[in-house]
Amino acid sequence: MSGKDLEKELLWEAPHIAKEAPEQRAEADAFCEGYKKFLDASKTEREYVKASVAMLKEAGYTEFDRTKTYCPGDKIFWNNRGKALAAATIGTLPLEEGLRLNAAHIDSPRLDLKPNPLFEKNEIAYFKPHYYGGIRKYQWSAVPLAMHGVVVKADGEAVTVSIGEEPGDPQFCITDLLPHLSAEQNGRKLGEGIKGEELNIVVGSIPFIGEEDEKIKAPVKLMAMKLLHEKYGITEKDFTRAEIEMVPAYKAVDIGLDRSLVGAYGQDDRVCAYTALMAEMETKAPAHTTFTVLADKEEVGSSGNTGLDSDFLLHMIEDLAEAMGAHCNTVLRHSICLSSDVNAAYDPTFAFVYEERNACHINKGCVLTKYTGARGKSGTNDASAETMAEVIRIMDENGVYWQTGELGAVDVGGGGTIAKFAASMEMDVVDLGVPILSMHAPFELASKLDVYNTYRAFHAFYR
Ligand code: MN
Ligand code: MN
Repeated sequence: MSGKDLEKELLWEAPHIAKEAPEQRAEADAFCEGYKKFLDASKTEREYVKASVAMLKEAGYTEFDRTKTYCPGDKIFWNNRGKALAAATIGTLPLEEGLRLNAAHIDSPRLDLKPNPLFEKNEIAYFKPHYYGGIRKYQWSAVPLAMHGVVVKADGEAVTVSIGEEPGDPQFCITDLLPHLSAEQNGRKLGEGIKGEELNIVVGSIPFIGEEDEKIKAPVKLMAMKLLHEKYGITEKDFTRAEIEMVPAYKAVDIGLDRSLVGAYGQDDRVCAYTALMAEMETKAPAHTTFTVLADKEEVGSSGNTGLDSDFLLHMIEDLAEAMGAHCNTVLRHSICLSSDVNAAYDPTFAFVYEERNACHINKGCVLTKYTGARGKSGTNDASAETMAEVIRIMDENGVYWQTGELGAVDVGGGGTIAKFAASMEMDVVDLGVPILSMHAPFELASKLDVYNTYRAFHAFYR
């Protein structure tokens, strides 16, 4: 036997998809056109739920009703407070054979306005944010921002706010120093390049001109509030009843001469949410009941009643089990859960934070992450060999391109996903998702071939 043959028989390495399956390039391109549109239309968890519910209804899903009985092929959804969502397709097997559950998150790092955000300094009006999730603050200055969110007025009316997305809309921006005057700032550590209380968002510079001799305390702030009042009928007090998110204002685009990458805000984790939702909707008569969860609050630790550290998912499964006459704990014990989230793609520019052989690489397919955590896998779910084997079997049998990954080299850093919360319900869980470059930056990159193979992985998992 030649060494080449022996190498082929005994050694393994994930291939570059474009070399092995060049025909997938056109398929991936076509798939990502819809993906980019969805990214542009759904930059916040509320917008994502709204757009998804519309698509689910169109695809024949009805809102779960615990008094109804459901048959194989029936499609149902749950809407958790407009900020998290689940969709399911009833399988032909009894529910107690377990769910094929897929959980992604639809919140992304951003700048949330504080409850008292509007102020004026030296005749410039600003918004004051508190950042949400893990951001590198210096990346968010000198970037065009859009304003998204909801304001609940005193009478209970909820007003949806969106400024900066339509052509011709004004946008917003955090300022930074010019290089000529940044000697002192350059001496700061990178993490303090822009400090939390320096993330002041410019919203206006023209004062309200009152009647003669009238003393107005903050005329530029007043002008900004007047313009918001004209557009939305809100007053300053209404900010205390609001959730306003400032996000990058630009649209998703192709990156590279070969258009091989998608560049956009919030691909962590809308890339998994979109691919999961597409696969869920296309699943017709699965063997196991499929269950697709799009959760909020992952970026702040899955806390709150729309995050997966709450019992909302357990309650949904309990309700479904009750409606189907199944024992919920048995359902959970027999379920497999994909914790569908992104991982850090190997970046040759910053090779020192990765262990090359165990990092995921762009264009090698969806990434199966056995464990996350930090410092000796602390806080990880750490998928069992059996769970890894089952998910790998599904992917191999369906020709899905996949690879393994870990979140950086040992002791460089680390992090977590929703995997441990799903595991605490006694389901078998493993992380699977898309390798991302510049994760958590206002503009993240993903390979179209990886996005497409993640969608193919979910498709195979549900079927
Ligand atoms: Mn994520
Ligand atoms: Mn994240």
